[in-house]
Amino acid sequence: MRIPLVDHHVHGPLAHDVNRRELEMLLTESDREIPAGTTVFDSQVGFAVRQHCAPMLGLAPGASAEEYLARRAELSADELARIFLEGAGVSDWIVDTGFGTDAIWTIGKMEERLSGRTHEIVRLEALLESVAADCLADGGGPGELQDRFEAAVAQAAGHAAGWKSIIAYRYGFDFDPARPSREAIRAAAERWLGEADPARPLRAADPVLLCWLLYAACDTGLPVQLHSGYGDPDLDLHRCDPLLLTDWLRAVEHTGSSIMLLHCYPFHRNAGYLAQVFPHVYCDVGLGINYSGAACRQIVSESMELTPFGKLLFSSDAWGPPELHYLGSLLWRRATAAVMSQWIAAGDWPAHEAERILGMVGRDNAVRVYGLDRRASSSAEGGAGER
Ligand SMILES: [Zn+2]
Repeated sequence: MRIPLVDHHVHGPLAHDVNRRELEMLLTESDREIPAGTTVFDSQVGFAVRQHCAPMLGLAPGASAEEYLARRAELSADELARIFLEGAGVSDWIVDTGFGTDAIWTIGKMEERLSGRTHEIVRLEALLESVAADCLADGGGPGELQDRFEAAVAQAAGHAAGWKSIIAYRYGFDFDPARPSREAIRAAAERWLGEADPARPLRAADPVLLCWLLYAACDTGLPVQLHSGYGDPDLDLHRCDPLLLTDWLRAVEHTGSSIMLLHCYPFHRNAGYLAQVFPHVYCDVGLGINYSGAACRQIVSESMELTPFGKLLFSSDAWGPPELHYLGSLLWRRATAAVMSQWIAAGDWPAHEAERILGMVGRDNAVRVYGLDRRASSSAEGGAGER
């Protein structure tokens, strides 16, 4: 059975053609040049592209990297995006619009060109930086930042499906978990904007400000996504273990916001523990699935150890190459079906439950947590695509 999925953490596909080097750079979380004498096509994700994406372009499974790239070059970026994103079988894309927006389709274009619906996740740091830039431009200064940011959050809450924080990238999860006072926020804002270099874009990295954003988001009651674990080398992975959030998770338990731990690899077992013990915590293993390719069954299996089935979600975390949107779905479907079949074959699971659990993780949990059955898609909510 092929159920339509909700991809609860995803970005747009590439808007422009890319050459081999550019494509390889986008098929790894490294931001460094591909080392001489090596290729991303000799990795799990490279093998997954050759094995599973090649047939989508009319080639045999296992086509060589050269055959694949030659065929790929015959199609435009928009054609590739349509083939792979429609092939993913996703009915709802919950889109993080806060990163690399010039290189990829906007959420408006996704809504217009794809059969699935889109819903916007607003990135807290990007919202703060845009409000702060306005404060500096019109002389409001740090003194007005708090009120203006809270007004912007209230306004965005009218259309957003949820929030996303990248505190893991900007600082780490070992921040002071207590709600910062208005005085502390003001002092941090003065420090930040006082030191701002007018020649460079503002970048919020002060832990007091980042923690304030999390509380402001939780106060709305909407789901709050947190990048956890695996990501590019901007982050210090050892400071992105979600267990470091334990005290903060206790502090926001009463707010009514669901905390969505994204990616989590290689801390997905820790995330599963948190999802089991805290009613408001959910997790996924997006991103790690794409990059582990044929080995992702193990990760999917481990993600189903402690995590209650009602607390686990599907995501691709695809950004850029549309192969990642497709593989995120395909590899997750294959791995989840395989691990459940194994448990059923061993006599450890009731055979008739597999379909229901697949539906929960692939779709129903996201529909419930984000209230998708009550939401219009982003285009119907008034210009979210221009954000
Ligand atoms: Zn992401």
